[in-house]
Amino acid sequence: MTLPGSLDEAVAALTAMPAAVPVAGGTDLMAAVNSGLLRPAALVGLGRISEIRGWQYQDGHALLGAGLTHARMGRPDFAALIPALAAAARAAGPPQIRNAGTLGGNIATAAPTGDALPVLAALEATLIIAGPDGARRELPVSHLLAGMEMLRAGELIGYVRVPLLHAPQVFLKATGRTGPGRATASVAVVLDPARRGVRCAVGAVAPMPLRPLEAEQWVASLIDWDGERALVPEALTAFGEYVAAACIPDPAPAEDGTPQQLPPAVLHLRRTVAVLARRALGRALS
Ligand SMILES: Cc1cc2nc3c(=O)[nH]c(=O)nc-3n(C[C@H](O)[C@H](O)[C@H](O)COP(=O)(O)OP(=O)(O)OC[C@H]3O[C@@H](n4cnc5c(N)ncnc54)[C@H](O)[C@@H]3O)c2cc1C
Repeated sequence: MTLPGSLDEAVAALTAMPAAVPVAGGTDLMAAVNSGLLRPAALVGLGRISEIRGWQYQDGHALLGAGLTHARMGRPDFAALIPALAAAARAAGPPQIRNAGTLGGNIATAAPTGDALPVLAALEATLIIAGPDGARRELPVSHLLAGMEMLRAGELIGYVRVPLLHAPQVFLKATGRTGPGRATASVAVVLDPARRGVRCAVGAVAPMPLRPLEAEQWVASLIDWDGERALVPEALTAFGEYVAAACIPDPAPAEDGTPQQLPPAVLHLRRTVAVLARRALGRALS
């Protein structure tokens, strides 16, 4: 295994060995190796690249290093900056996973259950990608998650650029069991008072986080942004149902026009999303 000390050295190592695979915390990668799904010819370890293990400020944004661990993002100083990402990091697996697993690994794996992903979608975060010869390019995280753009040979996620909104944001996750577990559904709600916007993303119910844009616009128009920002319970419930129906729509009617029902398990999932979205918005506005 090669252990470069900088992002550019890591890119150079990957470019020199096209069959090599980058490894950060190894929590996803080693699981794939152990189960026989992956047999990397060589590994390029990212764990010694100190420049991507912290964050810096840039034009009202935070530039988060891809090597930030979930444990680090869960700490109070980070939570004061980006509360929803800190909440997602605290919910990501048991402590040994949070100590090793990184933001960049969560994004590159792009699992539907990746807890950071709906938060990054709601924040409309962008990725700074490091490429050969010191090249940097920026792309929306949603483009990578939707497969509209891919990482090219030798490229690495270097940083994640997140706006600092200085307003409440909430991440809530439902799991199939008590204690740490993968999400069956998750919801991130972010308030953006400067743009009088509510941004919401739903995780785990589809291959990538879903943005219920019409529900966001509808509820933002109900909020008194210059006043108390509170909503009546009926509006919160309606928002939850709007979000859930947008992400898990009714099936199309049969050819003869007969309405079709969602299977009970999917109806249950839709109810879970509705409850999470209602609670998340209620907490953000309280
Ligand atoms: C028991 C268990 C429970 C888990 N629970 C959760 C959970 O509740 N929520 C959750 O979100 N995740 C969970 N995970 C998944 C995992 O911990 C996270 O996805 C983690 O953030 C992955 O980061 P890593 O640094 O370990 O990635 P690695 O395993 O090192 O890498 C994962 C993939 O990303 C690539 N990669 C890593 N860094 C970069 C980079 N900078 N640029 C480009 N590619 C890169 C690697 O090549 C590899 O393909 C769990 C995993 C396990 C084993």
